[in-house]
Amino acid sequence: MKLHHLLEKQIQTLSAQHRYDPAMQQFLQLVDQSYKNFEGEQKNTEHAFQACEKEYQDILHNLQLQNNIYSQSVQQLKNAIIAHEPQAAAIIEREENGLTNIIAYLEKQIQKRKETEAELIRAKDQAEDGSRAKSDFLSVMSHEIRTPLNAIIGIAHLLLQDQLLPSQLENLKALNVSAENLLRLINDILDFAKIEEGKIVLAEKKICLQQLAENIKTAHQIRAAERGNTIHMVIDNALPACVLGDEVRLGQILHNLVSNAVKFTRNGVITIQLSAQKVQPNEAAVLFSVTDTGVGIEREKHALIFDRFTQANADITREFGGSGLGLAIVKRLAALHNSDIYVNSEAGRGSTFSFTIHFKTGKADQPSAQPISGKNDLSGIKVLLVEDVEFNVMVAKKMINNWNGAVDIAENGAIAVNKLRNTNYDIVLMDLQMPVMDGYNATQHIRNFNEAIPIIALTASASADILQRTREFGMTDYLAKPFKPGELYEMISRYSRRHLTS
Ligand code: ADP
Repeated sequence: MKLHHLLEKQIQTLSAQHRYDPAMQQFLQLVDQSYKNFEGEQKNTEHAFQACEKEYQDILHNLQLQNNIYSQSVQQLKNAIIAHEPQAAAIIEREENGLTNIIAYLEKQIQKRKETEAELIRAKDQAEDGSRAKSDFLSVMSHEIRTPLNAIIGIAHLLLQDQLLPSQLENLKALNVSAENLLRLINDILDFAKIEEGKIVLAEKKICLQQLAENIKTAHQIRAAERGNTIHMVIDNALPACVLGDEVRLGQILHNLVSNAVKFTRNGVITIQLSAQKVQPNEAAVLFSVTDTGVGIEREKHALIFDRFTQANADITREFGGSGLGLAIVKRLAALHNSDIYVNSEAGRGSTFSFTIHFKTGKADQPSAQPISGKNDLSGIKVLLVEDVEFNVMVAKKMINNWNGAVDIAENGAIAVNKLRNTNYDIVLMDLQMPVMDGYNATQHIRNFNEAIPIIALTASASADILQRTREFGMTDYLAKPFKPGELYEMISRYSRRHLTS
């Protein structure tokens, strides 16, 4: 029997008789077993102790690491806060490694931010109220100015057709130019305000580019000739015939540029050029440029002239007027088209203004620019004019009569509804603000029994959503007052003929 060595030593001290006694043998075996068990347990305990020690070391090491990271993070946080707000140092440095002061400080800051935010929101609301009040004011003012201006411009046009003494003719022309300048100024101010308020949304209708350019040339030809200028058009053959876009706004950009070119050039040439930059099956990029051989602009003033109310040449401005809003509007309208406008000019060497627009060229449902026709004739057309302002009635009636059209008058919406129940007309010209029944209500009544007749709103309102509002009430289109005779003719001619042939 192999016994534990300690037990072995003790057994040596026993007498042989005792050593081989079976009871002693059994006892010794049990003692031996206990020794072995004890040793096993001891080893396990030692092992466990060693394992614990190792784990403890690891944990300690990790804790130290984490503590270092924590301290570094707290320091970084402190540094960041102090870099942002140096006065915070006094508060947060008071505590060496703790977060309590930092948290308290940040809570305070968040509270402050919230208060500032609330104040900002209040200020923004106030500013919006102010801006709404401003645009309401502008729109009322413009309505009040446009209404009499409509009569002034209309009567001046009518008088120009009479036999006049040369001195009367001169005065009348001056009156006409002043009235049109005033109108342009009001329109510019309103347009600028509308653009600034983000109220202009571009339409997407068919534009025939060549026709548009020709119309612009025609519109400026007389004035150009008066200043000894000729206007040329250069149209690239590679241009698509039609594109989709906002003809009114694109036309406005070109009108402004050509008008400036004519204004700042004497005995020179103005060139309107349209070139294809990139033509693909469904899109086209078109470069528009307006070049003149006029006074030019000094280099250092190139950037300035696009600012509102800024003019490069005070003498010329004194001679021809102008608000300094034209190019500011042009720049913003170009931006609405995702485009920018460039000027290339030197003093005394003429100027070129250019911009590129990317158009879609898909199918469109609306007709594009009508040619400005030479001879105006409305023979056989019967117009119902619904208008309460006596002067405006007189102007529109005379104009239509001059084009051989027949006019019947209704002084308010209710009278118009009655007349339409009993008489046939080809077109209705409907003022919007009238006593008894306004133009919107009258149109709603008329649409209950007459779906087809074209109803054109005549309005001095400058509100941005006027087209949408008039359409919602069932009107066909609208004409802004004051209108020029050609615009009134074009409107009546286009819609009444379409009505007659439908
Ligand atoms: P306005 O023509 O009403 O003064 P604009 O904003 O259209 O305002 O033009 C700003 C200024 O830029 C003009 O006053 C003029 O000094 C200059 N300018 C614009 N177009 C031309 C041009 N074609 N030739 C010379 N100067 C021009």
